[in-house]
Amino acid sequence: MEKSISSRYYLDYNATSPLAKSVKSFLASGDFLFGNPASIHTTGKTAKKYINETVDFLFNHFKLSPVHFSIVFHSGATEGINTFFKGIALAQFKNKVKSTFFFSTVDHASAINLEEDLRVLGHDVYFFSVDKNGDFNRENLIEVIKKVTSIGMPAILNYTYVNNESGVVWSLEDAVKIKKETGAIIHVDAVQTIGKINNWSLLPSELDAYTFSGHKFGAMKSVGFSFINKSVKFSPLIVGGGQQAGLRAGTENALGIYCLKLALLDMVDEFKPDELLSAKTFIEDMLSTKGEIVGKNAKQRNLNTIFVIFNQSNSSDLTTRLDIQGFDVSKGSACSSGIVKENRILLNMGFSNKESLSAIRFSFSPSLNREEAQKIATCLQKALK
Ligand code: PLP
Repeated sequence: MEKSISSRYYLDYNATSPLAKSVKSFLASGDFLFGNPASIHTTGKTAKKYINETVDFLFNHFKLSPVHFSIVFHSGATEGINTFFKGIALAQFKNKVKSTFFFSTVDHASAINLEEDLRVLGHDVYFFSVDKNGDFNRENLIEVIKKVTSIGMPAILNYTYVNNESGVVWSLEDAVKIKKETGAIIHVDAVQTIGKINNWSLLPSELDAYTFSGHKFGAMKSVGFSFINKSVKFSPLIVGGGQQAGLRAGTENALGIYCLKLALLDMVDEFKPDELLSAKTFIEDMLSTKGEIVGKNAKQRNLNTIFVIFNQSNSSDLTTRLDIQGFDVSKGSACSSGIVKENRILLNMGFSNKESLSAIRFSFSPSLNREEAQKIATCLQKALK
């Protein structure tokens, strides 16, 4: 039920989600798995056992093979993405190999902001653009990557499966096609997929890495995981005691890791994609009378996100007004001084400054149903008057 959090309508599931039921009851059981998984006594072994159980579960759930992939647990997708790209950049720097890294202009900040460090390590960085539907030109991108790989230079691509702001989905079939035609190393940012698209667990083994973040699907903050193909050579971002086969040092957060499994199991039980789509569409139909739905004509959008440009309004005023009326929603990012900046994603999709300052993102719970949607739409309509 959307309004269960402090009796507010929490419509910001792309930012973060409440803990899953089974996570809460596991925590309430008081079994906090405090042992150090590297310890050889029983308490340590218990923590290790729960981690191993989670590893097995994740390989099964995502149908990837531990023969070809490693799982790296980390503090969330920002670290996962940094680990992958900086890790490759550093490994290649050590081997005196120059590479080109490809990002889209609408990737998450944790990818975009790697540019400076990658250049410092001697690599090239290329940003490819998207159109107003949040879509990119596949043939163009393939051509640009081929120019790099055809001279023997490695190409590494970040592929955002579901955009966190617009909800636009890029198909993994296309990513596999890019891989086959160019030989690029491809990392998939899969953070916004669980509970937000159908078949999130179908991950082609041809692609090189996938990153997820626990707090986006009912697990805890600061725990995430990446699948990384064993053939990818990267220097670990965090070195130390050699935990996780040296891929990411530091004592593992057994409790947080086990909660990934619990939250995913709940999601599998509760996710009703048809119901979610119908509920979201109901709210979207109402909102489209008030503003422009971003990515309305995209090839595919996810099931839980509506990003709306309210042309005559300012998103700061609107979010404040909605906040007072009990709605938690999100707008373009505010910098630390509190000054509202244009929404980078919208600007890079070709919208104007003014449009980018008047957008609000509504992102719904995976278990939103039609009845709740009707209530939300009615209250939202009043609040937006
Ligand atoms: N990638 C995408 C698409 C995201 O939406 C986010 C978080 O909003 C991240 C990466 C970073 O995730 P985390 O909060 O786990 O660092």
